[in-house]
Amino acid sequence: MNAGMVIVGAGECGARAALALREQGYSGAVTLIGEEPHLPYERPPLSKAAITDTAHPLPKWIATDQQFGDAGIAVLQSRRVTGIERMSRTVSFTDGDTFGYDKLLLATGATPRRLALKGSDTSGLVYLRTFDDALQLRARCGAGTRVIIVGGGFIGLELAASARLRGAAVTVIESQPRLLLRGVPAEIAAAVAARHRAGGVEILTGAGIASIRRNGVATVKLADGRELSGDLVIAGIGATPRTDLAAAAGLAIDNGVAVDATLRTSDENIFAAGDCCSFPLPLYGGRRVRLESWRNAQEQGTLAARNLLGASAPISAVPWFWSDQFELGLQMTGLAEGATTHIRRDLGNDAFVLFHLAPDGRLLAASGIGPGTTVARDIKIAEMLIGRRAAPDPGRLAQPDFKLKQLLAA
Ligand code: FAD
Repeated sequence: MNAGMVIVGAGECGARAALALREQGYSGAVTLIGEEPHLPYERPPLSKAAITDTAHPLPKWIATDQQFGDAGIAVLQSRRVTGIERMSRTVSFTDGDTFGYDKLLLATGATPRRLALKGSDTSGLVYLRTFDDALQLRARCGAGTRVIIVGGGFIGLELAASARLRGAAVTVIESQPRLLLRGVPAEIAAAVAARHRAGGVEILTGAGIASIRRNGVATVKLADGRELSGDLVIAGIGATPRTDLAAAAGLAIDNGVAVDATLRTSDENIFAAGDCCSFPLPLYGGRRVRLESWRNAQEQGTLAARNLLGASAPISAVPWFWSDQFELGLQMTGLAEGATTHIRRDLGNDAFVLFHLAPDGRLLAASGIGPGTTVARDIKIAEMLIGRRAAPDPGRLAQPDFKLKQLLAA
């Protein structure tokens, strides 16, 4: 009977949690179980450097074999957990093997949403989530190929930029009236669209897909009758949390594995963290959210480790996300929902930041775009102000030469 801490899902969150258990001084058994054939690696490069680098890419490891070994963490690769038996506190595998736990962390991540089109041949559609997906994409979107990307969200747009940089002809099809409708304010989406168009990406917004046919090449027929031909059709239409295991074990599900502010599920011995879970955010009145972001996965992995060890510490982090497309860096912090005032601050060089304020003046969120990391400092300060529930003077926020740092001293 093995026991100790068992983590299902060897991605960003699971790996960080395993390492954090040791950093917190835990000396019992730590087992990290992953279905992929690789050690845990970073996903953000998959839509960026893994496609554009001239050298053949390698996964960007979160920790090496040696580091896991030195930390006494057992990493089981290519092992898929198929069941949780809560009474006996065991997890089981396809081959019938079982594995005991004292406490269990679910860090199962998310999976690309599949494009369903009645009467269409969607078998050749390509999705991106894993390193192996990225290698497949990279091999197929070189110079001269025609790439069609369904979905103008972050992954679709990052892939559009990367495929263009490799010399492919790229069309992005978005059914909504603009890009990144749920992700960022219209001003930022407009800057993104302008950069993509300048880079040669064809962007079709408000464009529904009627059908996809395949006959050597793929033919995508739009709702208005137009037809596009592509060598490769990629679908980037969002991701769904991997809750099957938790649901089958009878755990509460609510747009993800439902956890409380300490990442505990409806079973006191099971926690969930990262892309797979939804949680209440104390900073936003306990609103339940699910975040798909690299830093959230890291922070929740670390917090989960503390709470597996009994700390009962609540989530206090402010959401933060970034995306890189061509030379542009986009960053966002906080949650803009409920904001009624939007203050723009120009940083020069076409870079700008938008501050989103609640009716009572409280800063709820900030988003910015500019070359490289131009907006990083302002977004960092905004994040700190949001964490303090500050209501900064809108006039000062808008002044390009005002040092935002002064607001932190207030
Ligand atoms: P994952 O990293 O998905 O890891 C979950 C792991 O669990 C997977 O390996 C999965 O195979 C495994 N698993 C699931 N079920 C089982 C099971 N039953 N048994 C065993 N193993 C299982 N975020 C940003 O902030 N900025 C970015 O620029 C950015 N770019 C991204 C680009 C791409 C292409 C992708 C896919 C994501 C990007 N993200 C970005 C998001 C970020 O990478 C994710 O939020 C983060 O990886 C989530 O970590 P996780 O550990 O929760 O899930």
